[in-house]
Amino acid sequence: MYPKPLTYRRARTLDEAFSFLSENEDARVIAGGQSIMPMLKLRIASPSLLVDIAPIRELHEIRMEGNEIIIGAMVTHREIIESREIKSNIPMLQETARHIADVQIRNRGTLGGSICEADPSADYTPTLLVLDARVTLKSAKGERTVSLDDFLVGPFEVDIKQGEILTSVIIPVNRSAYSVVKYARRAADFAVASMAALVEKKTDGTVSDIRVAVGAQSDRPLRLRDLESELTGIKPQKRDLHLAVEKAVEGLEPIDDIHGSADYRKEVTSNILKANLGSLIFGGDSK
Ligand SMILES: Cc1cc2nc3c(=O)[nH]c(=O)nc-3n(C[C@H](O)[C@H](O)[C@H](O)COP(=O)(O)OP(=O)(O)OC[C@H]3O[C@@H](n4cnc5c(N)ncnc54)[C@H](O)[C@@H]3O)c2cc1C
Repeated sequence: MYPKPLTYRRARTLDEAFSFLSENEDARVIAGGQSIMPMLKLRIASPSLLVDIAPIRELHEIRMEGNEIIIGAMVTHREIIESREIKSNIPMLQETARHIADVQIRNRGTLGGSICEADPSADYTPTLLVLDARVTLKSAKGERTVSLDDFLVGPFEVDIKQGEILTSVIIPVNRSAYSVVKYARRAADFAVASMAALVEKKTDGTVSDIRVAVGAQSDRPLRLRDLESELTGIKPQKRDLHLAVEKAVEGLEPIDDIHGSADYRKEVTSNILKANLGSLIFGGDSK
């Protein structure tokens, strides 16, 4: 199918983009085009105006500000994989980007586009949730910065207003021990189950910081905050970990579709959490 007729405009600056967006109530931004183009072709989305933000230079920047790294919305998955700043300051994000789709999509798809698309099975969100990422949104009226946790509303839904553009993602530097797992049927598929975790321990083995998030949920990716508090401040035994995981997974509502039933996905989520949190907490192969 072809998309419905529409007007396409290329913005060279943010102000130009805001001005184009204000021309039409149903105007949409196009970034890497990897998600929106299929939606246009299938006529799931039919905006009368598409505003291309690719030429806007500031959206392509990766820079450090104090103890945080600021990544422009137009930075591609490939640029994340190749960035030295990201490798040395948030290696977990780089590891996550490596497993997104295939090389063509990694060359074109962007961090901002992936976040705004809010696919509940997307790879970045669990990782960005444990990294306590924030997003900056700008419009002709001003700017605001919100936590990613607040920005994600539901499946394919984020807290963005007409005329706003996500301009950057702010991530505190984090070099803690991490684990990122994407369980998919084939290499380039979306996740059937996924998890991201960070763990910091004291020398005596007490867990001082643990952050865990899961993806492929029917609503949106989630931090497992009860599990985190149960395992913080103690030297957990394997039994403690398994009980905490089982309790957390019990409350999950994974996607239920042809790629995997909700029960199957729960089982996989439980297994990857036990194995990979086990490795982070106890070291070695803790399956
Ligand atoms: C075959 C296929 C397989 C894929 N597999 C995976 C996978 O395994 N894992 C994974 O995580 N992703 C996967 N993706 C998604 C891919 O990562 C896309 O790149 C990403 O979801 C969208 O990024 P984009 O830059 O192409 O956004 P676009 O398609 O250009 O835009 C997506 C949506 O976000 C909005 N938008 C984009 N940028 C902004 C912005 N800065 N401000 C406001 N709104 C904005 C657009 O209006 C649109 O609604 C896959 C996609 C395809 C087509």
